[in-house]
Amino acid sequence: MGLHIIDHPLVQHKISLMRDKNTGVKEFRELVEETAMFICYEATRDLPLKEVEMETPIAVAKTKIISGRKLAFVPILRAGLGMIDGVTALVPAAKIGHIGLFRDPQTHKAVKYYSKLPEDIAERDVIVIDPMLATGSSASAAIRELKSLGVKNIKFMCILCCPEGVKALETAYPDVEIYTGVMDDGLNEDKYIVPGVGDAGDRIFGTK
Ligand code: URA
Repeated sequence: MGLHIIDHPLVQHKISLMRDKNTGVKEFRELVEETAMFICYEATRDLPLKEVEMETPIAVAKTKIISGRKLAFVPILRAGLGMIDGVTALVPAAKIGHIGLFRDPQTHKAVKYYSKLPEDIAERDVIVIDPMLATGSSASAAIRELKSLGVKNIKFMCILCCPEGVKALETAYPDVEIYTGVMDDGLNEDKYIVPGVGDAGDRIFGTK
């Protein structure tokens, strides 16, 4: 119910190019950014509007602008950074917080090492972003942190997900809507999404 798969042909096409192991850093980074923009378009579809009057060169128009609570994007470091330019192209005034989590190689659990959020985060609607929803451990840890600070309305945006991650997130936080480009088959023994795109952070930053 809270899972939105953005099956737009452009999103599907770009994700297919991301999957190709021969896609280089520059192209991969561009694809992440562009795909993030399309998914963000859907994730912001329910932003409230209010009617205002604007004077055009011809007449006064009753027209709509976005109203209500302000937005913050919170990328999970480091791969979430690759989506920031795409989402801020759509919502340039949004504030950006950062949550740093690494995956303990033994337990595969997320461990927080950094958190820097806008001071007024509790008054904002928040979209947490990470290209991969794998075990759901990082997403849950980021959402837990935001909720502990009083954030009420949280969405989660990724590019690829798998049933395990969706189930974990929906179980822990049924109120958090998930926006994704595709749902893949599942996780391998190293907790990578299969078939996936490999390590998104390494492919965005060229670290491997
Ligand atoms: N993180 C990644 O970068 N890739 C995966 O497949 C899973 C988690």
